[in-house]
Amino acid sequence: MQQKLTSWIPVPEHSDFSIYNLPYGIFSKDSHTPRIGMAIGEHIVDLKRVAEAGLFHDLHADLSVFDRTSLNDYISLGKEVTTEIRKRVQQELCDEHSSLKEMSSAIVQQSECKLHLPVKVGDYTDFYSSIEHATNVGKMFRDPENALLPNWKHLPVGYHGRASSIVVSGTPVQRPNGQLKPDDDKPPVYGPSQRLDFELEVGFIVGKENQLGNSIHVQQAEDHIFGLLLFNDWSARDIQKWEYRPLGPFLGKNFASSVSPWIVPLEALDPFRVQGPEQNPEVLPYLRTQGKKNYDINLEVDLQPQGQPEPTTISRTNYRYMYWNMVQQLVHHTSGGCNVRIGDIMASGTISGTDPQSYGSLLELSWSGSTTLKLKGGQERTFLEDGDRVTIKGFARKDDIRVGFGEVTSKILPAKI
Ligand code: CA
Repeated sequence: MQQKLTSWIPVPEHSDFSIYNLPYGIFSKDSHTPRIGMAIGEHIVDLKRVAEAGLFHDLHADLSVFDRTSLNDYISLGKEVTTEIRKRVQQELCDEHSSLKEMSSAIVQQSECKLHLPVKVGDYTDFYSSIEHATNVGKMFRDPENALLPNWKHLPVGYHGRASSIVVSGTPVQRPNGQLKPDDDKPPVYGPSQRLDFELEVGFIVGKENQLGNSIHVQQAEDHIFGLLLFNDWSARDIQKWEYRPLGPFLGKNFASSVSPWIVPLEALDPFRVQGPEQNPEVLPYLRTQGKKNYDINLEVDLQPQGQPEPTTISRTNYRYMYWNMVQQLVHHTSGGCNVRIGDIMASGTISGTDPQSYGSLLELSWSGSTTLKLKGGQERTFLEDGDRVTIKGFARKDDIRVGFGEVTSKILPAKI
């Protein structure tokens, strides 16, 4: 068991941001330029100030990176350096005699800060790695008898998404207009999506590049993963259903994706590693992983209509059920020689469990609109309405150690007329 750590910054008992976590984000206070911080409890450690205090001076690294408006340059210092920096901050926060204690400007209240998109995202890829989700969607969109297509258990299916419309938690999401076909026997119409949905996902941030033409090997893949965040892959099911054949998702997905502001470094999730589900048939040798590559992360989705004082938790699931793990996703992505870059986001695909309360989208929770969800206060939903707020939360817990992601929350705005 990990040694018990206690920080001199008070951390509320159920805080996601324990001393074991120390996730990275980009924050700004007052009119200052955004910069890199680390969350602890209800505070943020200003890493620029910590660097100025000389804590990292012997690391032979470019310490001007803390002043940047994204984490990309920091991540590019390499895992050896960033792991050491995180370890030193952790030690300082546990040391009652730390000089940081006297530096009031190094520790700021989260409530006084604005959080920004943590990375500059060059490319975004979305996988489809939950067997429960892929089976449910296959049943609804295609053939209940053959829900999984023949390739599904042989490769982690994915598509290249849109990076430009990735926004940070708190940014409202506008209902998209698009081409819809509400009546099978009539021509399509153009208008606001009537089947707006969320997708509960976890994304990972690429932390190390590979050269174009070279693939990433399973043994090295974890070195290329910097950390994880929560990801809401907004989906317009009616646009998606009409457009998706034969090339897959396009405008039904590209109007927005929302991310949580804090990136939990992979090493903080080590205590929560678990074995993934058995893969049968056995995957090809280049995709075979050894050991625990899944993570036990509790996930939930809350839905709160406008004017309702309380949200309703409409889904509870876990990241551990993913059929394809992150290593396999990254290895497959680069297996043809495609280069990935620092800051790229690779999202898991909707994470659904086996029982209906664990489905990670309204498409599944309402079974394509055939049943309604009852919310606190008496309202009902099949898909999202204007003014609805969707919040995804996630945390891992083992013994006394809790490492959480905070949340990604967004409110739906009406479509532009
Ligand atoms: Ca998705």
